[in-house]
Amino acid sequence: MAVETKLGYIYGKNKLTEEGFEKARHIILGLQEENAKLIEEGYGPFLAAIYDKNGKLIAKMPNTVSKENCCLCHAEVNTIKKASEVLKTYDFAPLDLDIYVTAEPCIMCAGAIMWSGIKRVFYSVNSSDVERITGFDEGFKPNWIEEFSKRNIEVYGEIESNEGIKVLEKYVASGKEIYKPSCER
Ligand SMILES: [Zn+2]
Repeated sequence: MAVETKLGYIYGKNKLTEEGFEKARHIILGLQEENAKLIEEGYGPFLAAIYDKNGKLIAKMPNTVSKENCCLCHAEVNTIKKASEVLKTYDFAPLDLDIYVTAEPCIMCAGAIMWSGIKRVFYSVNSSDVERITGFDEGFKPNWIEEFSKRNIEVYGEIESNEGIKVLEKYVASGKEIYKPSCER
């Protein structure tokens, strides 16, 4: 269920203060700006960052599917992998970490976030807008926000999504790669 506030749409249990949401907006806007620059350097059009509860940046990585020729190299998976190296653990749960993403996690990244033990997810552009604008397939995620909630993972979505949409539209307008497997038989 989405709750409309003056700050944007918030999914799941709203435990954020206005100050907390302003912090999230600030981080997401910074990621969108950096994402636009990274696209020019040939990275895929998504960027993720993991922060600890004190607001310290642990890891930040873009999508490197084209650069590394690997379909697994989404921003969230890359960032979780980097954070695991930095923190020297596969279980982030005791560390109470947040992940911020320029777009809603796809089917694979939702799974990766769940296994990582991350406690809060903040994203900008929702999957239906990503699919409509780019043609990327984000996969099937029935009730993923509810399922995350059952596991005490909070999800906050559509944060500054208009800015994120502009970045994706620019990516498509510049004729950059839309990578997905063919579904034809
Ligand atoms: Zn993904």
